[in-house]
Amino acid sequence: MPDVRCTNCKEVFEIDSLEISANYDCPHCGKNIKFTSELDRWVKKVYQNQIEPDFLLLKSRSSDALVGIVIGMGIVLFGLVMLYAWMFIFTIPAGLFCLWWGFSCMFTESTIREVFSVYDKEKSRNIVFVYENGELVESSQHEIIVEERCRIVCYSFWEGGGDTGSTVWMTYITQKTGAIRLVCDGFSKAKQFADYLGITYDSKGSHGKLNSLPDDSHTWTEW
Ligand SMILES: [Zn+2]
Repeated sequence: MPDVRCTNCKEVFEIDSLEISANYDCPHCGKNIKFTSELDRWVKKVYQNQIEPDFLLLKSRSSDALVGIVIGMGIVLFGLVMLYAWMFIFTIPAGLFCLWWGFSCMFTESTIREVFSVYDKEKSRNIVFVYENGELVESSQHEIIVEERCRIVCYSFWEGGGDTGSTVWMTYITQKTGAIRLVCDGFSKAKQFADYLGITYDSKGSHGKLNSLPDDSHTWTEW
């Protein structure tokens, strides 16, 4: 197991892994020490704009605030109807309860989710990380070996039933040891990335339904 030095008492103690950020209690002084992996330290610098990643494959930001406001407004409206059309005594507390509940739904703290996929040329790796409300919640990395024979392979297909399904975008980079899936913002971004790396871009097109993917689709990402 790897050793780290306590930032408080400067004594050395063992931790589980250098790859995973975690909190440890120092066995010497008992102070809670936050260990941050090399990957997460790098990721935080990217997020704080201290490092400009060599290539940005995806940067997306989503919020569930609107959902809370719509649901909250529905409950408030229902509460107002109950207060207005009160016929029995219980509709008054029920209506008031709906007003309180609806307003708390509308103003409850929403989650802002930011997803990044970047390429780090120095260590030739694709890094994907997720922030929620400004806190790093997920990070992972894949080493990429860029050779002339590598290709960026793209295709999309429809997943799920008729109206409720959605398009799934697949982007891979072929590797001798097996293709790596990249989190990437659509076909044109994938082509830009292929151009950036100086390798072939290979689009296999859009396919309406999962079962309409050609039989040989599993060979698309072969080396
Ligand atoms: Zn200590």
